[in-house]
Amino acid sequence: MVHTTGRKTFKKGEMLIHEGEQGDSAYIIEKGSVEVLVAREGKLIQIGTRSDGSIVGEMAMIDDKPRTASVRAVEDCEVLEISRDDFARRIESSDPILRMVMQVILTRYRDMLSRSQLVVKVPPPGFIKAEDLEKDDKVVDVAVNTLKVYNELHDAIKNHELKLFYQPIIDLRTGKIAGFEALARWFHPEKGMISPGIFIPVAEESGLIVDVSRWALNEACESINILSKEVNSTSCMMDEPLFISVNFSVHDFSDKDFFSHVEKIMNKNKTKPKQIHLEITESLLVEQPEIAREGLEKCQDFGIEVSIDDFGTGYSSLSYLHFFPINTLKIDQSFVRLMLEQENNYQLVKSIIALAKNLNMSVIAEGVEHREEAAVLKSLGCESCQGFWFARPQPLEDAVEFIRNWCPPDVDFRKDL
Ligand code: C2E
Ligand code: CA
Ligand code: CA
Repeated sequence: MVHTTGRKTFKKGEMLIHEGEQGDSAYIIEKGSVEVLVAREGKLIQIGTRSDGSIVGEMAMIDDKPRTASVRAVEDCEVLEISRDDFARRIESSDPILRMVMQVILTRYRDMLSRSQLVVKVPPPGFIKAEDLEKDDKVVDVAVNTLKVYNELHDAIKNHELKLFYQPIIDLRTGKIAGFEALARWFHPEKGMISPGIFIPVAEESGLIVDVSRWALNEACESINILSKEVNSTSCMMDEPLFISVNFSVHDFSDKDFFSHVEKIMNKNKTKPKQIHLEITESLLVEQPEIAREGLEKCQDFGIEVSIDDFGTGYSSLSYLHFFPINTLKIDQSFVRLMLEQENNYQLVKSIIALAKNLNMSVIAEGVEHREEAAVLKSLGCESCQGFWFARPQPLEDAVEFIRNWCPPDVDFRKDL
């Protein structure tokens, strides 16, 4: 049934909501008051009252579960009924900031309610009322904080507070530097360095990721010329040109101008498409497969290689590997970390390398922190890897120094373990 928002009246004693029934509307009480009741041992127990200006049945806006309480008019009431469909439509068409804040509040509210199982229990003495939860400072704090990060991030791009760090990717067969992964850092004037683990999710939720990705691609294109020059003047030079791998989000592909911006940025910087790799996580890819495939195909046709990040963590079906144009699988660092301790992780790493080879794809292992891991990966036929053992992500100037001083660690590359 599709309801739209509309006014209703309820006479004193009339039920607005029945416990146990499937709810698909909430009610804003414009006039009058109601009581919230739960049935226990054949009796209706009043667990709260609401008067004008309050909302009842709001959980129906969030999930599709049976009502956990009844609501009865204690006097004649006038209410505004909001259906779930109408609510969803309004959120969808709202301002992106409003949408983001609403989604955060609703998710937190649902989590909190389900944690406390507030309404389904017989209320103990002194229990918290639902009204109090609405005023909970934590809920408001989270929303306000997210909004603050959004506003600050918006300005951070303009104010050049974002910086790209570069982590070398080493070719295990030759010990040479094959490329770098570009990883964003935010240098906040007051809070100091903020990790991408904090601000990328906010950028993704709010749509700002499109600006972050364009900025990162442009920076990477500018840096590749500097790094390539350095590599070409040392013995680090590879047969293939040096590349920088840039992280993208699937939201980037939803932007209809995504590819034309990629092309424009690369042309402006005179970057060869082979010198940029595009990284995307598999979990993001399967969220919007058709849109993602179209964007990835355009990039690949242009000459940009595509890597699947955090491979093995996000999605159980392998059939998608044929669906998307993919050049490289990046083995997630969680597998590499436990590879030498747990046989099943070792087998998983081995299988991913074999799978990549069978599908004619390259493979890069992430999170190499020890010499033994690099040696085992090499012996399994893994072509490249990156990790703290070689270098942490570093500013461009340090990456240039890293190239100048790089000498392949002998023991690891001369013999397999
Ligand atoms: P990711 O793409 O999987 O990046 C690898 C993360 O592992 C990086 O964290 C890197 O610093 C860290 N790492 C590298 N080697 C090691 C190691 O040996 N041990 C350990 N423990 N960690 C290692 P970081 O830089 O904090 O980035 C976190 C995530 O944020 C990235 O994960 C990526 O998903 C996202 N991200 C970073 N920059 C960007 C960006 O410009 N755009 C987008 N869309 N996402 C980004
Ligand atoms: Ca990555
Ligand atoms: Ca990764």
